Order: sequence, then structure tokens, then C-alpha cells
Amino acid sequence: MTEYCIGIDLGTTYSCLAYIDEDGDPVVEKNFEQEDTTPSVILFNENGEIIVGSPAKDMAMMYPAERIITAIKRQMGTDYEVDVDGEKYNPIMLSAVILRKMINDFNENHGCDVKKAVITCPAYFGQNERDATKTAGTIAGLDEVTVINEPTAAAISFGFGNAAEGKKRVLVYDLGGGTFDVTVLEIDGSAFTAVATDGERFLGGKDWDAVISKIIKEKVSEESGVDMDTLDSDEEIQQTLINDSETIKKRLSTAESTKGTLTVEGQKIVFTVTREEFEAASAGLIQTTIDIMDRVLASKSFSMADIDDVVLVGGSSRMPQVRNAITSKYPDANVKVFDPDQSVAKGAAIFSRSNSMVPDGVAPIDPATGEVSAEAAAAGVLSVHNVLSKTFGIKAVYEDGTEMISNIIFRNEVLPIESVKTYYPVDDGQSTIKVEIYEDSAVNDDSGKKTAIIDGAPVGEFMMELPLDVTTSTPITVKFTATDEGILIASVDCMDQHTDYQIENDMKMSADAIAKSQGLMEKVSNAN
Ligand code: AMP
Repeated sequence: MTEYCIGIDLGTTYSCLAYIDEDGDPVVEKNFEQEDTTPSVILFNENGEIIVGSPAKDMAMMYPAERIITAIKRQMGTDYEVDVDGEKYNPIMLSAVILRKMINDFNENHGCDVKKAVITCPAYFGQNERDATKTAGTIAGLDEVTVINEPTAAAISFGFGNAAEGKKRVLVYDLGGGTFDVTVLEIDGSAFTAVATDGERFLGGKDWDAVISKIIKEKVSEESGVDMDTLDSDEEIQQTLINDSETIKKRLSTAESTKGTLTVEGQKIVFTVTREEFEAASAGLIQTTIDIMDRVLASKSFSMADIDDVVLVGGSSRMPQVRNAITSKYPDANVKVFDPDQSVAKGAAIFSRSNSMVPDGVAPIDPATGEVSAEAAAAGVLSVHNVLSKTFGIKAVYEDGTEMISNIIFRNEVLPIESVKTYYPVDDGQSTIKVEIYEDSAVNDDSGKKTAIIDGAPVGEFMMELPLDVTTSTPITVKFTATDEGILIASVDCMDQHTDYQIENDMKMSADAIAKSQGLMEKVSNAN
């Protein structure tokens, strides 16, 4: 059976699957509905089936809200849960459902059984969300899941298309359906190194849809005499507007103005929305993206002159206001809209192929340098280095009794990174130390050494077991390593004892829960 190299862009609003065809090119697989991208929408219907994609989006209006799940990616790594017909689903399981539908469609079309894939996630996803994405792949039936950052995947795809151009520094501006991020990467032949990243979890096309929806309601209210509160509380109008406002927004990317209709209290109101009105009402949103872009450049003391290309990806970067906002602030920026809906999935597929190209008997990574070995590079293996999107620290109690996060490994440093710290037991004969790991946004300067607990997020903990006979002067050496994938591991040396620890977190699903969830995948309606 052919083993395909698969990349999946698991998006907030749309997801996309790409693979490498016989000619070695990345191509997007059409889903069963013959679309290039699959709406990340899930419907639990009355027959116990789980429907994913456009059929779910189209039927959403006919079902109670609790049976429709949208934008689940925004909940990744949280304790969000839905209860449908007595069955509880967390964001990992719901993401698995979307992955399963896409893999089912692919298997059906190609007569295969995909077991390996590269799945992308936003650069600013922390440890919990990355773990969650990986587990979603496992639940969806994959044996081997690699998670890479969306902007890195976009840059790989961009680099693939522009291979001859040599060394470049690119800024990937990714405005998707629900999330926004900016990443600066250096591309040198087959090596991709992210050097800075930042983003906003709650900013994307959906927010622009909401702006359109408000404009429509204001117009319709004025025309019909029905007040805004009444329109706001009408479920059916709200549902209609969810779909219609997205359609109108997309039309305004090519037309200066567009018409639409909305029926309220029996009156059919025709309205016109202009691009000018839309852009004025969404100016604050676009400015937020520019501010984040500036912040990323500033974090490495880059100016726009240091950037060769500004690559726009994500469906929402089709809005003309995106390019206009960037070029009005930076007239010399070399802005390119690059395959906005597909570049992430294609880049993931290219990366997946690169992983599979390591010849037998060749070490993919040179152990001395941690880089892709010369043989592997010659065979076409890509070297990808991410930056850590969050700072890691541990909870520490200071002399005055205050608890703070003592930061250890800082954001925007190229992975993998190690940091060695020495600690001492508080009491003679102490048998354990609980190490609580936090993530935060501190930067690596004098002010960034400590962070208030309230400004961090717990990502897990481990219980250090100490040898007998420790005293308050026994050094405990802890080596924290952030792996290539941004996962934190710790190894502890104390007296003659060496122990490696995985960071456990509450959000991790147990093997039992994963196995049970795999059973639920049977309910995901098949292509046929
Ligand atoms: P992504 O998550 O990257 O697939 O982006 C999906 C988002 O892009 C959704 O919010 C879409 O409404 C938006 N989008 C797609 N095409 C267009 C377009 N032509 N104009 C404006 N927004 C678009």
C-alpha cells in the first residue's frame, strides 16, 4: 500500500489536507464535498452520527446550538467540555473528529490507510496545546504525529516555490479564521529557522465577520424599525448572519460594495455594504495586527529593511485592507500574498516528505551539532528550527515568602534549548520536591527573571524524588530541555542519582481515555 506524506492544517475555521503527489509536488486533497478546505464545524445529529465540514455548517441553523461545535481550536489546551447525548467531549476529541473526517476522505479516495501525518499548530501554542494537538492525531487513528508551527509550514511552502533565491529573512503574517500570528524566519536553502514569533489567540476572520454582522444589523434596524436588541436576541437572525456576514465579507475582498437581504418580522430588507464602511469599522482590528507585527520586529531589533519578503497567509489576508495597512506603514515592504488557504497544509506535507526521506542507516540529525546531517540534507531533508513561543519557569518561594515564577528558558530562543539550574533542599533528609512549571511571556533581560504567578499559566508539574541523606547543602542539578517541538523535559542529578522526568499536566488524557475516544471515531460519518 502506498505510504503518503500527509500534512494537515487543523484550522480554527477551515482545515486543509495536502499530500505529495507522484511528481514530488505538494497538492491539496479535495474532501468528499469536493472542496479544498473543510469547515472546522461539527454537528452531532439526532441519529448519533458526527457530521463534519460543509454539511455540518449548512445544517447548523436547523439544530440547537449545543449540537454544533465551531472554533474548537480556540479551546485547545483548556478544560472546556461539551456534553452531547450523555457523552462528554473535550477539545482534543473534537479536534480528532475533524482530523478523522479529513483522513477518512483521503483514505476513501486513495484506497489507503494513513497512519502518519504532520499537523500544524499556531506558533504561540504552548505545551498544553501542542500535547493536545498530538493526542488529537492519536485519537484520530494516527500512529505517528509530528506537530510543526503554521508559519514555519507556510515558509517551507514559500521556500519550496522560491528555492533558487538563496538566503532570505521572511516575515510570515498569518491571519486565519480565528487566530493571528506573525513569525520571522530565516530561510537558507533547506534550513528554516524561526527567530521571533508573537500572536493573538482571539483575532481572526470571525472578528471581521462580527463587524459585518453589526453593520448589517444597524442598517436593517434603521430600515425596518426593529430595534437592535430585538435583532440581537433573535436566534434565527443570528444564525443567518453567521453565514451571510462571512459571504459578504469575502465579496468585499473583490467588490467595492455588495448587496444582501435579511428578513425580519416578515419584511425582507435589502441592504448595501461598502468596502469603505467595512474597513472603517474594522480599522481597530487591523491595527492590532500591525502592532503585533511591530512588536515582533522590535523583539529582535529588526526594521522592515531587514526583511526580504512579507508573506501573507491565512484566508483573511485576502482582505485588501491587510496589504494596504502594511504598505501604508511600510511603503518599501515587499508584500506577497502567498497561497493563503493552502500554503500551511502544503508546507506540512513537504515537511512530512522530508522526514520520510532520511535514507536507511543515515542519522537524520548529526549528534555533534544537533543539525540535520550532511547525508540527510543531501537526500533533501529539511532542517527546521522553531523558536519557543512562551517562556518557561518554575514556581519558587523567595526569602521574603513571596511566590513568583522563576524563569528558566525564554521565548524567542531557537529550539532546542537547555538550561541548567542548581537547587538545594529546604530541610535535611527531605525526600521529595514538587516542581511546578509555568509558562509566561517574560523576555530575556534583567526585568524578565521573575514573573508574578498571576501572569503565568501552569503547564504541569513533577515530583522530584531525592536520595536518602540529602542535607540543605546537597546540590540538586536540574537540566531543563525544551525540545525541537517545544516540549519541556527535565533531568535531575542529585548525589549519585540521575532521574529524567516528563512534565505531567492535568489536561493530558490518560491512555484509557484515549482508547475510549478512539472508539467514538466510529461515529464520524464516512464519505460514503
Ligand atoms: P484559514 O483559517 O486560514 O483557512 O482562514 C479562514 C478565514 O479566511 C475565514 O475567516 C474566511 O472567512 C476568511 N477568508 C477566506 N477567503 C476570504 C476572502 N476572499 N476575503 C476575506 N476573507 C476570506
